[in-house]
Amino acid sequence: MRFADIGLSDELLRALTEAGYDEPTPIQAAAIPQVQMMRDIIAIAQTGTGKTASFVLPMIDVLANGRARARMPRSLILEPTRELAAQVAENFEKYGKYHKLSMALLIGGVQMGDQVKALEKGVDVLIATPGRLMDLFERGKILLTGCEMLVIDEADRMLDMGFIPDIEHICTKLPTTRQTLLFSATMPPPIKKLADKFLSNPKYIEVARPATANINIEQFLVNVAPAKKRDVLTDLIRSEKVSNAIIFCNRKTTVRELNQSLQRAGFRAGEIHGDIDQSTRQKQLEAFKNGDIDLLVASDVAARGLDVKGVSHVFNFDAPWHPDDYIHRIGRTGRAGAKGKAFTFVTKADEEAIESIEKLIGNKIERLGKIEAPAAGEEERAPAKRGRKAPAKAPKAEAREIEEAKIVPAPVPRAKKPLSEKPAPKPKADDAMDDDGWNGPMPGFLSASIPK
Ligand code: AMP
Repeated sequence: MRFADIGLSDELLRALTEAGYDEPTPIQAAAIPQVQMMRDIIAIAQTGTGKTASFVLPMIDVLANGRARARMPRSLILEPTRELAAQVAENFEKYGKYHKLSMALLIGGVQMGDQVKALEKGVDVLIATPGRLMDLFERGKILLTGCEMLVIDEADRMLDMGFIPDIEHICTKLPTTRQTLLFSATMPPPIKKLADKFLSNPKYIEVARPATANINIEQFLVNVAPAKKRDVLTDLIRSEKVSNAIIFCNRKTTVRELNQSLQRAGFRAGEIHGDIDQSTRQKQLEAFKNGDIDLLVASDVAARGLDVKGVSHVFNFDAPWHPDDYIHRIGRTGRAGAKGKAFTFVTKADEEAIESIEKLIGNKIERLGKIEAPAAGEEERAPAKRGRKAPAKAPKAEAREIEEAKIVPAPVPRAKKPLSEKPAPKPKADDAMDDDGWNGPMPGFLSASIPK
């Protein structure tokens, strides 16, 4: 099937050709015709499947007719994090370049005044994180009664982040005749309940998980004693042909300590997690994208949605607690047809988590090395059980912190080069932002549509 066969406008087809896309992905082929028929949909799909375009493309054509009215957005897309919201905005820019649609991005960290100005002019598409949207709604700055289309993206992540009550509240403010598209990687009972309450006769669409379908990622488990993790990691980085890698840890303190240790060992490494300031976080990500650093040590804040081209390796320094996080983490490599490798360190305490991961992906992962007993007195901290059966909800305060994370991918092409062991440039203290302004790449439509 080709895009031309699914009835998209000529303008969209032109933009798609320029983006280099020939064929719709399975989620696009299944979802786009349903959206065009004005059906509600529940789509079980992960990032990496092309799900963003599966709602952005038909929305652009649907919204092409009609005019925006002041303070009354015509459509609303809810995203759990700023980075995902910004990525959706970039998608609108890319595919909507031959349409005259106006958009606003309503996310934490952007000057509120500019966002309000854009809304007051009237927008066709509002892309928002629930916290910031509720904030503005409660101040009476926005009316949702003209919103004919609602997208709830990454619904299960919204659940983990404690946003479901906000979403329920938002749903009641939209017209009941609206069209609703719900995207989620999994369908836990609270999401099912949300769908039953707010969707009408939805079409159910499910596509394969990218990790199970992605044969481009070679996966390995590495048995290791906790005290040997750093040594094993540096050995692996040296023995593997690592051009660049993301190294995931479960705790921010581990991220920090590991980054320092890698830098001391002469690697060009950086770190991102929820505790470092926005400006530094953004700089670290850009340094990774443009090749100034080769290793990015990260917490799970970075696992969802980040689309960095050409990541050769993912190392799970700590096995993830949620099996879904495993899929998101390893999905940072092997993107866009490239080959990638994912190594997950396994200590004795991780065995149960590994079992859940293997169950989820439906096969055993190759194991390297024998598991070593922890040395005397060595602490092996077993995580609190956080299996999907009874997922521990992140407390709301923590969820807000995640929403505050400012990891905004900028599409910087990077040349492949072997990993060199030079210390990474240290971020300068005066780089820190002195306000809470958006410091990520600003989608062009924002600067175009906001009167200064
Ligand atoms: P998503 O699942 O929306 O995060 O998309 C994952 C990646 O696939 C993004 O880099 C998109 O630009 C890319 N993509 C989306 N649709 C297509 C397509 N039909 N053909 C090729 N790449 C695509």
